[in-house]
Amino acid sequence: MQHINKSFNFLAFLFTTLLLVGCSGLRTIQEVPQTDILASIDLRNLVDDKAHVEIDPMPITTDVVRFYLPLVVPGTYENSNFGRFITDFKALDKNGVELPVSHPETNTWVISNAKNLDKLHYWVEDTFDGEMGQDIYPMGGTNFIADQAFMLNLHSIIGYFEGKKEIPYQVKINSPKTLNPHTSLARIQSSDSLDVFRAQRYFQIIDNPVLYTKEKGTYFDLDNIKVGLAIYSPSDTHRSSDYQAAIQKMMTAQKNFLGAANNTPVYNVLIDLMDYEELQFFGGMMGALEHHTSTTVVFFDGMEKAELEQSLIDVVSHEFFHTLTPLNVHSEEIHNFDYNQAIMSQHLWMYEGTTEYFSNLFQINQGLIDDADFFDRIMEKIDFSSRYDDQMSFTEMSKNIVEEPYQANYGNVYQKGALINMCLDIIIREQSGGSRGILSVMKALAQKYGSEKPFQDAALIDEIIAMTYPEVGQFFEQHVVGTTPIDYATYFEKVGLTYGTIDKNLPSILLVDGQRPFFTVQMSADGKREFLVSASNSSLDALGIQEGDLLVELEGNNLDNPSPESGAALNQLFRDTFSWKEDKDLTMTVMRDGEKLTLTGKVGKPSVLSTGIISKDSATTQEVALREAWLRD
Ligand SMILES: [Zn+2]
Repeated sequence: MQHINKSFNFLAFLFTTLLLVGCSGLRTIQEVPQTDILASIDLRNLVDDKAHVEIDPMPITTDVVRFYLPLVVPGTYENSNFGRFITDFKALDKNGVELPVSHPETNTWVISNAKNLDKLHYWVEDTFDGEMGQDIYPMGGTNFIADQAFMLNLHSIIGYFEGKKEIPYQVKINSPKTLNPHTSLARIQSSDSLDVFRAQRYFQIIDNPVLYTKEKGTYFDLDNIKVGLAIYSPSDTHRSSDYQAAIQKMMTAQKNFLGAANNTPVYNVLIDLMDYEELQFFGGMMGALEHHTSTTVVFFDGMEKAELEQSLIDVVSHEFFHTLTPLNVHSEEIHNFDYNQAIMSQHLWMYEGTTEYFSNLFQINQGLIDDADFFDRIMEKIDFSSRYDDQMSFTEMSKNIVEEPYQANYGNVYQKGALINMCLDIIIREQSGGSRGILSVMKALAQKYGSEKPFQDAALIDEIIAMTYPEVGQFFEQHVVGTTPIDYATYFEKVGLTYGTIDKNLPSILLVDGQRPFFTVQMSADGKREFLVSASNSSLDALGIQEGDLLVELEGNNLDNPSPESGAALNQLFRDTFSWKEDKDLTMTVMRDGEKLTLTGKVGKPSVLSTGIISKDSATTQEVALREAWLRD
């Protein structure tokens, strides 16, 4: 998984409004004789934003049977309790008479007289609204937008019977005629309004999200991989064809970087773009969730094409690298995943950390970004990781990730997790005279294990040490299993780099780093919102803004105690700043010492002086050679 949280301060303006979609009557689906477990989902007749689901089991031979929705699903590392989204659960016999059902726990239903069970009926609510929806990562959730689009992570819709996870499923989905399904799940039958998919076992239900959109999707071949792209854009501004070239270029570079380590036959990128209300609902959370042969991606529809393209490159490359780990290198805990008991592995440093590291390293390795950009990304990770507990053992955190205080540190797997891999990479490069790195170790592990053979959780680190060098063992002992914070400068030193001052470009004139605006929002004595200038950048300096000013007007928009309506206009203005051109004229009005001042100037190239990673003046030839091997071999 990968998530980004773009909750800029100004997003706090808007009040959350729930997305409600239209309703119509219930429709019953007629079943044909079965050989598999049949699951029918009706997307044509939503009632109160809920979809009707019918499950037709294989004959039950016990008096009592348990039916589960997952507590936890792979790749999310949190308890989701998908049973919460199920209502009106009924178990019926052949005559339509209800059988006794108890519901002892959120995700479990116990059906008595089970030998007479003919069908289950229940309703499923999506996770993109409602009180509990916010608890679910949007990329792991379900979005019902009547007649427009459906993003289905089937783990929140279809459950499983105790002891029957290995039986195949047929999934019948009734959908509006204008919508087309996008998924890696095998389709065995289709018409305008009915698609029948087949899953070999329950795992494939979990592993194969389905996106229904009006667009037909875009396809391309990547050697032997058939790649599909589909986008739902509520404003219809973004089309999958707009992003094909960039994604194809990126995935080609990933294939070059990985070499033979990938053998996936199909790969689908399913993109659900959120409108502003949905973005607000999830508090600015965006990202993607990996599956073996597809990924679900959730971003904001209001993003500019260039911004969305770069976000897709960063996030989809991360997800595609998951085809290496955990998909081809994983422990028994992942292989025999228990959906209703969170038994976690120690190795998030690898599943998420290695993946995130590679999704940055391949970009410099394949010439998609330059050194300065790569070092900025590393520096950003060092900065972000300081928000988390630097003295928490990474293996202990991983093993207990669904509980606090570990869960609150989960985001560090993308920050320190990636940095751990950078350090390991540099150590292995140093010890091997530049010839080996963490990628060669991962390829060897994928060769040895692969998707069907798990490793033993407790034995992995020793195995990696045996494959490499004692220095790798020391690093694991101190900084991954142990609790000693990493001094990154030590590792930069080895490759001729050091910390220094850089002039860092900013994506918007309103920002003073990657996320923070130049003002803070405070409440005045009479209870009004005020925008206090608390930091600056080169363009704001040129405009004459000073710390301590109160910002009252921006490009003709009054900032004085905004209402929800004017707040919406302001949010749009703030978003627009990301695409403002250098020569654009700009006007801001501030209050300074009780006096109103109007400041005018150009947007320019906003930048700030900040700490970054630079080449060391005294770098030796050997250090520079090691850096080249690290970044470009
Ligand atoms: Zn991930």
